[in-house]
Amino acid sequence: MKVNLWGIRGSLPAPLTPAHLEDRLLQTLEEFIYFQSQGGKSAKDFLAQLPHHRRGGFGGHTACIQVSTPQTSVIIDGGSGMRRLGEQLALGPCGLGRGEVHILFTHFHWDHLLGLPFFLPIFIPGNQIHMYAVQEDLEENVRGMFKKPRFPVEFKDLGAKIFFHRLEPRVPIHFKDIQATPYQLDHPDPCWGFRFENEGKVFSHCVDSECTRMSASDLGADLPLYQNVDVMIFDAQYTFLEATEKINWGHSSAPIGLDLAMREKVKRLFFIHHDPAAPDSKIAKAEEQTREYYESILAAARSQGHNPHEVDWCFAREGMLIEV
Ligand SMILES: [Zn+2]
Ligand SMILES: [Zn+2]
Repeated sequence: MKVNLWGIRGSLPAPLTPAHLEDRLLQTLEEFIYFQSQGGKSAKDFLAQLPHHRRGGFGGHTACIQVSTPQTSVIIDGGSGMRRLGEQLALGPCGLGRGEVHILFTHFHWDHLLGLPFFLPIFIPGNQIHMYAVQEDLEENVRGMFKKPRFPVEFKDLGAKIFFHRLEPRVPIHFKDIQATPYQLDHPDPCWGFRFENEGKVFSHCVDSECTRMSASDLGADLPLYQNVDVMIFDAQYTFLEATEKINWGHSSAPIGLDLAMREKVKRLFFIHHDPAAPDSKIAKAEEQTREYYESILAAARSQGHNPHEVDWCFAREGMLIEV
């Protein structure tokens, strides 16, 4: 399986402002002049030694993730990242009106829906767009995105044929060689994570969630979302301190995800749903603090003679392609 991160910002798109971009450019150019004065020559070498957040940053588009195998592909959510995915799909069968698209919705907050009216394949006659959710009001929420005066094209005038499918909680559904199973997350409005399985590999999508249920007994029937997972994507909108202040806001922090991943022996972990109010430097700082936390709990466990499970983790960036 391949997991493509088209949009990972939380709550609201957060593009870099021209002023932020200019500041970053100025700082970078000044450092490059110093780099050259020390004998460095290539601009490419200079960029390569800068941390990720000083180059492209973490990205500003909201929730849209694509899970693919050579046989099929499934989209999770329709946030603003969906526009570019739609443009890419339109280069293939979707552009000719011969495409079949599957979209799973976790829930219907704006950041998970707002790209849908800008998804090119939905306007092309002949395409079949299948939408899935556990929630019974899926159709009502999707139709609501194409209502005048909020959007000029009405739902009935969309070119593609749209099918709505209701998912059963914790019951797998198959898309050719991908199996997807919904499990409930902890969010102010009902939200569902998905466990994807293909050829013995597991990808788990755990966003948006405050993760108020942590223990195996509290998680109960939803525990399989976190078990035997190769790659997990987890909600880290806030720093740990912010998360303790924002009770019932529906989002988590990286240390909580790490605790869960270490206990359940998750192999690789990617944090997303970054706070739209946080500049890239703040997200990078939260990643640094999480690194300190992780190293400290590893050291503490080892000092007591335990062999803690090590997790390969990072704060993800828009555009990342993860091989599961
Ligand atoms: Zn969200
Ligand atoms: Zn939400």
